[in-house]
Amino acid sequence: MKNEKIYRAAFDAKQDETYDLILDKLTERIKELNCLYGISRLVETTSSIEEILGGAVELIPKAWHYPEITRARIRLKDFEFESDGFSESPWKQSEDIRVDGEKRGNVEVFYLEDRPGRDEGPFLREERDLIHAIAERLGHIVSRVEAGNRLEALYTSEKNLRRELQEEMQNRVEFTRRLIHELKTPITSLLATSQLLCEELESHKLGRLSTYVYENAARMNARIDELHDIIKGEIGTPDVDLKAVKLGDILRSPLEEMNSLAETSGIELRLYIDDEHVSVRADASRVRQILSNLLNNAFKYASGNGTVEVHTKTSADMVTIEVKDDGPGIAEEERNKIFESYYRSPDKAKGSHGLGIGLALCKVLVTAHGGTIWVKSAPGKGSSFFFTLKRTAEGYTA
Ligand code: ADP
Repeated sequence: MKNEKIYRAAFDAKQDETYDLILDKLTERIKELNCLYGISRLVETTSSIEEILGGAVELIPKAWHYPEITRARIRLKDFEFESDGFSESPWKQSEDIRVDGEKRGNVEVFYLEDRPGRDEGPFLREERDLIHAIAERLGHIVSRVEAGNRLEALYTSEKNLRRELQEEMQNRVEFTRRLIHELKTPITSLLATSQLLCEELESHKLGRLSTYVYENAARMNARIDELHDIIKGEIGTPDVDLKAVKLGDILRSPLEEMNSLAETSGIELRLYIDDEHVSVRADASRVRQILSNLLNNAFKYASGNGTVEVHTKTSADMVTIEVKDDGPGIAEEERNKIFESYYRSPDKAKGSHGLGIGLALCKVLVTAHGGTIWVKSAPGKGSSFFFTLKRTAEGYTA
């Protein structure tokens, strides 16, 4: 009975000892976890490396076994951070901080006084693991912050570049506007006077010359207007006055006008309208401009004595108009580029005339109609340009 009591007391004492040991170890682990968690929290509150390291160095001593005599130092390239009341001592632990594999500095922990020998001088094995984990975490944090800073710098420079580019574009647009105005003033009076001259000299032998002056002034005027439309398309939407119009009406008259030009170019122009009376939402003068550009190109590139055809295809909600030539065609890699402003084919055989704005303008105008434009081409055999116009809800107007 007596022995049993002794055993029991010894057993209880052992139990208490184990319990204290476990409690002690748990308290240590919690301190370590608090330290690592505190360092992670710092990243959420600031993105400055100085502030993160400055905060971290104060958290470290609290996680060591004797916080009251523990001091820490973090060194990272040009920075050095010390915990409150820091001084060096012979009892020290140190771990390198590596950023993306490169050594950048270290974390050091000092005991200001000697303590009984443990796994590593007066330090525990767990404290070695902890200083390693802290150094590793700081390395990751620095790497991430630096990557973020690089990204931000890149973003800022990109933003500045975009602003400069926008300013440059605005300056160019302003310049072109002024240029157009400067050109428009003399050309308008040139047009008016040459038209008058044409009428006066109708039966005179100089009549042909005055017609020539008038036609060229008109061509120049059209080019200036195109340039103006392109600018408007680049900075906003060009003016289009959309109305319900009959397909036959908006196609026949511009095609008749283009007929004489086709004849002088030795081209036969054919028109196939599948449904004259279908109603589309369009601005007749803008459709005339689109057709004029497509046909001018077709005449320019069609083979000598060739044929240019215009076809229409009416579907449930739109009409597709095709301008087809039998010219040299367009290489596949060029088919998207030709609709960009100022693009001209590098193919010398296609001549050096033109500003490269005709098709870009067609795209701007077709888009303003709510339609699309595209090209199909078989190099060596010819090209077909297609654009769509939307049908009106009321369907037929006649
Ligand atoms: P440009 O006024 O210089 O002709 P466009 O925008 O009208 O400008 O045309 C751009 C380029 O597209 C031209 O330089 C030419 O290479 C090509 N192109 C346009 N239409 C045709 C066509 N019908 N056949 C072959 N190439 C064409």
